[in-house]
Amino acid sequence: MTIAIIGTGYVGLVTGACFAEVGHTVTCVDADASKVALLQSGGIPIFEPGLEDLVRRNVAAGRLSFTPSTAEGIARSQVIFIAVPTPPLPDGAVDMSFIESVAREIASSLDSYRIIVDKSTVPVKTGEKVAETIKRYCRSGVAFDVVSNPEFLREGFAVEDLMKPDRVVIGVSSQRPVAAMKEIYAPFGAPIIVTDTNSAELIKHAANSFLALKISYANALAVICEAAGANVQEVTRGMGLDSRIGPRFLQAGLGFGGSCFPKDLSAFINISAQLGYEFRLLREVQQINADQMARFVKKIQDTLWVLKEKKIGILGLAFKQNTDDVRSSPAIDLCHRLLREGASLRVYDPQAMDKARAVLPEGSGTTYVMDMDAVAEGCDALVIATEWPQFTQLDLVRTRASMTTPILFDGRNLFDPVEMKRLGFIYQSVGR
Ligand code: NAD
Repeated sequence: MTIAIIGTGYVGLVTGACFAEVGHTVTCVDADASKVALLQSGGIPIFEPGLEDLVRRNVAAGRLSFTPSTAEGIARSQVIFIAVPTPPLPDGAVDMSFIESVAREIASSLDSYRIIVDKSTVPVKTGEKVAETIKRYCRSGVAFDVVSNPEFLREGFAVEDLMKPDRVVIGVSSQRPVAAMKEIYAPFGAPIIVTDTNSAELIKHAANSFLALKISYANALAVICEAAGANVQEVTRGMGLDSRIGPRFLQAGLGFGGSCFPKDLSAFINISAQLGYEFRLLREVQQINADQMARFVKKIQDTLWVLKEKKIGILGLAFKQNTDDVRSSPAIDLCHRLLREGASLRVYDPQAMDKARAVLPEGSGTTYVMDMDAVAEGCDALVIATEWPQFTQLDLVRTRASMTTPILFDGRNLFDPVEMKRLGFIYQSVGR
């Protein structure tokens, strides 16, 4: 198939590269001309394991190309995927202006039948609005179909998730685009769910909200475990081995962040209210998440007493392991809270330091350190803020010796409390 992807970000670029890998011819479009130029010159704007090789191989094979022109992408393609941002507005609703503007651009370029596929995460009924908009602005009056095809990839594992999806959801309002959509996805060998557009859109919000709910559940359990002298990791392990529950997304920690869960949760609460249902359960999920961060900061304050002029090492800036994405990162939020209290920070992340500098500038209390084992030097405390597996390889003996006071706050439960005590740390984690 010939495919255009409009929006070449985390979702669009990985989707485009994976579609090309299975033999489709893909044109990735982006409004950001500097991003397109970087990609055209062989650069990759994001860190995602396996992506660079995939892009290079498919560009060389002539199956993947980049352009700033939506019209060019559409002219070359049978199927047009939309993968532009759907950021939150201050009231929690979704800013649909990117989708609406792409719909108008598509309308102005349509000269024969196309399938337009929404891959961005959107509120239910967006497909209907996109179809209305294209119809309204399309001068040629040609036929088209709008399909909902939500994306479930996890940043950090995006290539793996795209190549081996658990399922593919295809929401349609007519049967005409179904065969082409199945052809696109056939090489991935995943179960394909064909449903109506509204249900497909709801599947995405329902799934992300449920995953956020699991995390908040584990975090609420962590509070009880701390009060009761139990260990949340033991409790969630015991729960997770029940096949009806499963172990994933049951890790207590600093709470969820990133560009998806917080905004998708707000969007789902918002659209539910518009549809006449007050989704109080999900409001509580948000509240537990906010409380979790506040509780962790209080733990640091209670131990260090006064944060002003304290030097604190921070391991991890990305919103989770395996990514350079710092959008709505709990680690960055934590840094800002500590800076506001007058602490100074020495920070390190294996991949996210470049992106972090834009939201946590060097200077005014923040020093970027290039060596993980040197972060704690001269610090009054060290904080683990992201669950990068390499942090478990930290040279703990050197770390302890280099600190002013050997206090470690483990926001991701990476270390064993008994072992940390044996090594001479004052160690606090979450729910243990
Ligand atoms: P992103 O910000 O990384 O990428 C979006 C890209 O779209 C940017 O490069 C931007 O320049 C481009 N763009 C904006 N307007 C455009 C236009 N009019 N024409 C062409 N390009 C345009 O965003 P993302 O993380 O890839 O997310 C995209 C969508 O996918 C969102 O709705 C998001 O919720 C959803 N999603 C994201 C993930 C994830 O893990 N990041 C997972 C599943 C779904």
